[in-house]
Amino acid sequence: MADSPAEVPPHAAKWFAAQARRDGRDAALAAWRAARGPRTVLLAGPRSFCAGVERAVEIVEQALDRFPHPVYVRKQIVHNRHVIEELAAKGAVFVDDLDAVPAGATVVFSAHGVAPAVRREAAGRDLTVLDATCPLVTKVHSEVRRYARRNHRIFLVGHAGHEESEGTLGEASDRTTLVESVADVAGLPPLAAGESAAYALQTTLAVDEAADVVAALRARFPGIEGPGSDDICYATTNRQESVRAVAAESGLVLVVGSGNSSNSVRLVEVARRAGTPALLVEDAEEIPLTALAGIRTVGLTAGASAAPGLVDGVVAALRGLGPVDVAERRVAVETVTFALPKELSR
Ligand code: SF4
Repeated sequence: MADSPAEVPPHAAKWFAAQARRDGRDAALAAWRAARGPRTVLLAGPRSFCAGVERAVEIVEQALDRFPHPVYVRKQIVHNRHVIEELAAKGAVFVDDLDAVPAGATVVFSAHGVAPAVRREAAGRDLTVLDATCPLVTKVHSEVRRYARRNHRIFLVGHAGHEESEGTLGEASDRTTLVESVADVAGLPPLAAGESAAYALQTTLAVDEAADVVAALRARFPGIEGPGSDDICYATTNRQESVRAVAAESGLVLVVGSGNSSNSVRLVEVARRAGTPALLVEDAEEIPLTALAGIRTVGLTAGASAAPGLVDGVVAALRGLGPVDVAERRVAVETVTFALPKELSR
């Protein structure tokens, strides 16, 4: 690690070293000096772990305590690098495919849910399955199955390639079309004679953007059935409202989360649409010092898959630059909890 200058306190040394690796020591020091000064941190509330993520992490931890090792996890249990690294250090083995899980082993399905074909494959092999699918994702799967039973043409508003959308599409892939944008709606073919339409939503969409796509679907297919915006989960909705609240008062918003975390990326977009520059950072070390020059009020939040300790780490790092007042803008109190699967509730 590059030596820290005396003016960088020890607890910020790793942050400074990361900047120096990226930009060179002289540039990092110039940026450090330009960023120094007192500031206010406005914490968005709610932020960080949601009930579905807490449950998914708990399932893997309990599986590691109670089942023979190794315990396999299909895909990232939640989309956060730190969570994955911590669970891997405790013995979890993350795989992309069930093919990589040997017969007789224990496998955990991730919080994002799986297509029925994956469940069938697991059932056809000698595997102990623990399902960490968030119950709110399971609810969307049930809606899609219900529409499919009624022979509806189904439109899933979501993001291509995201594990949650892939799992949900798998419930009725022959009659479900993924719709990502208002422009996609215009390109949809007409319904067949006598056919009805329905829609469902990925749980982590931006509430405002999803509303535009749903409005376009309603205009295109009058009478289309759907859940309103209710598929977008409480945690996504609350985090977007609270980031909007802090963005209104901040010169910069920092969102703690991983780049493949849909709800974290949406928080950055929501803050920017509110007119405030916003950055996604994996942790304190990723904050670019240059972005802090002249910024006296920093809004701070974290995606639903990012642990609260990472937010504390950002506040601690910012204290390296000068005194920090911390205040919170809380738009909701969350009391949601989800029970563990029956295999672990004994
Ligand atoms: S973000 Fe929502 S749907 Fe996703 S795990 Fe959390 S509570 Fe469940």
